[in-house]
Amino acid sequence: MEKQRYERPIIKKLETGMPNKFGMRTEYAPMTQIDGVSVKELIKEYGSPLFVISESTIRSTIKKAKKAFTTRYPKVQFAWSYKTNYLDAVCKVFHQEGSWAEVVSGFEYKKAIANGVSGKKIIFNGPDKSEDDLRMAIENESLIHIDHLDELYTILELTDVINKRPKVAIRVNMDTGIYPMWDRFGFNYENGQAWDALNKIMRSGKLELMGLHSHIGTFMLSASAYAVAASKLADLAIGIEQKYNHTIKYIDMGGGFASKNTLKGSYLPGFDVTPSFDDFAEAITTTLLNSNFKNSELPTLILETGRALIDEAGYLLGSVVANKRTSSGKRNTIIDVGVNILFTSFWYDHKITPAQPFTHYTETTQIYGPLCMNIDVIRENIDLPLLNKGDHFVIHTVGAYNMTQWMQFITLRPNVVMIDSNSKVHLIRERESMETFSSLEKVPEHLKKFEL
Ligand SMILES: *Cc1c(COP(=O)(O)O)cnc(C)c1O
Repeated sequence: MEKQRYERPIIKKLETGMPNKFGMRTEYAPMTQIDGVSVKELIKEYGSPLFVISESTIRSTIKKAKKAFTTRYPKVQFAWSYKTNYLDAVCKVFHQEGSWAEVVSGFEYKKAIANGVSGKKIIFNGPDKSEDDLRMAIENESLIHIDHLDELYTILELTDVINKRPKVAIRVNMDTGIYPMWDRFGFNYENGQAWDALNKIMRSGKLELMGLHSHIGTFMLSASAYAVAASKLADLAIGIEQKYNHTIKYIDMGGGFASKNTLKGSYLPGFDVTPSFDDFAEAITTTLLNSNFKNSELPTLILETGRALIDEAGYLLGSVVANKRTSSGKRNTIIDVGVNILFTSFWYDHKITPAQPFTHYTETTQIYGPLCMNIDVIRENIDLPLLNKGDHFVIHTVGAYNMTQWMQFITLRPNVVMIDSNSKVHLIRERESMETFSSLEKVPEHLKKFEL
């Protein structure tokens, strides 16, 4: 038998508060493997910290989402939101599952093309599309979702020099009963901006109005807000039919479905409070089916779901650097994962699970990262089994936005691996090195030498 590890005794203040509804200890059984691969082996092979993506979780999640919509509505198309996670391997899993690409910059657009997505299956959103971006999108017959009138005028100008009819939609913002309202993108429904844009498009005769788009927010905890949005878009679509005898091809409801993460300050874990794909699908599809579209003119329903499809497939493995106590005696555990690579820790209370067996003691602990910055806190208060220097842990539900919003600050960005459905591990993004940076930086001649 392995020798039991000595754990230094501590005098601990008794917390006499009530247990929450899940009891005193909620999150803890050790997590020693992911999809059949040992956490310790992963760290040994690929270093710490390490992002791990489960291919089978991505596939099962998109299948679940698709089923929720396709059982309720005859024409459904998903488009993968690149900014949520644009690692090529991740995008390709979604494309293999039939998703188109949804991009919000020229860079993301080119990434989708490089990934082999046909231009016709790229939806181009966002407020900043350059003239070159628009030219490229028109040539490739992509779906351009117009954000503002200046963009509309640029596209109209381009029709004089490009021999193609641009395929466009407008982004519509609206009051869905969720405040603060997201009204900075697109044209407002209530004040008539949306109709202004639609009239300009239709009367120009130069553009092909393909659809209507909205993206009402992110991490939405209300399915009914989508019903409101769908009914307003349907109203516009039917108005266009009546006024211009023009049938739009699709209604794009954007993304924003909440993932299973727990927002800071939330009493209940995300797993218990976020609506399911079925809830969102029911709200959206019922509204569209009940509206007055002729059956032959029922628009395709496009979904640009991001975080809810990838968050749970991502894990972040790491190691304990040290333990110490603050002046008040509170336990602090320092880990090698900082807010620079776990950007979402600013608004989520991420679940953290030890990666090895532990004793029955737990203590309220503050977990902070390796940065020499006061804000580098991963969890302020977490009732965690005692972790020792060198121990490993798994941080959960990190697949969305971390691998795109991470920043190179103080430390370098780590390896990312994907575990395939046969438990084979693939390196999908190499860790940064000194060369990554020396290849970008240039030092002027007169600064090359110095004496100290
Ligand atoms: C970010 C974004 C999405 C994806 O949002 P999630 O909250 O990740 O689902 C979809 N559409 C547009 C236009 C976006 O900007």
